[in-house]
Amino acid sequence: MDCLFCGIAGGEIPSTKVYEDEQVLAFRDIDPKAPFHAVVIPKRHIGSAAEITPENSAVVAHIYEVIAEIARREKLEKGFRVVTNCGEEGGQTVGHLHFHLLAGRNLGWPPG
Ligand code: 5GP
Ligand code: ZN
Repeated sequence: MDCLFCGIAGGEIPSTKVYEDEQVLAFRDIDPKAPFHAVVIPKRHIGSAAEITPENSAVVAHIYEVIAEIARREKLEKGFRVVTNCGEEGGQTVGHLHFHLLAGRNLGWPPG
């Protein structure tokens, strides 16, 4: 399968890792939208948030545990935002489920 984030998860495409375990990888976004911007992915391919099912959803709970752990490690005590873009109108550009972890400035609400 030709998937950029599977390539990053498999180590064929280099990335700056911020967290890794058996199921999950987090790495710095190549085009950061905030002073801290990591992308958190399941290593096993899931195409998007629209493809989460009872069979594959356990990793999503684990990803939120990982996000809390990254926030502790990176000292994001002032707050952070987690974003998942899904599909064309949702702004998804990479077809592998991922969670943007953004912090380090006032992010504003609602988003544009
Ligand atoms: P999406 O637009 O699908 O929500 O998020 C995809 C994200 O992946 C974007 O923020 C983009 O900057 C990031 N990205 C795209 N290609 C690469 C890459 O090769 N390496 C890294 N580290 N991030 C990438
Ligand atoms: Zn993939």
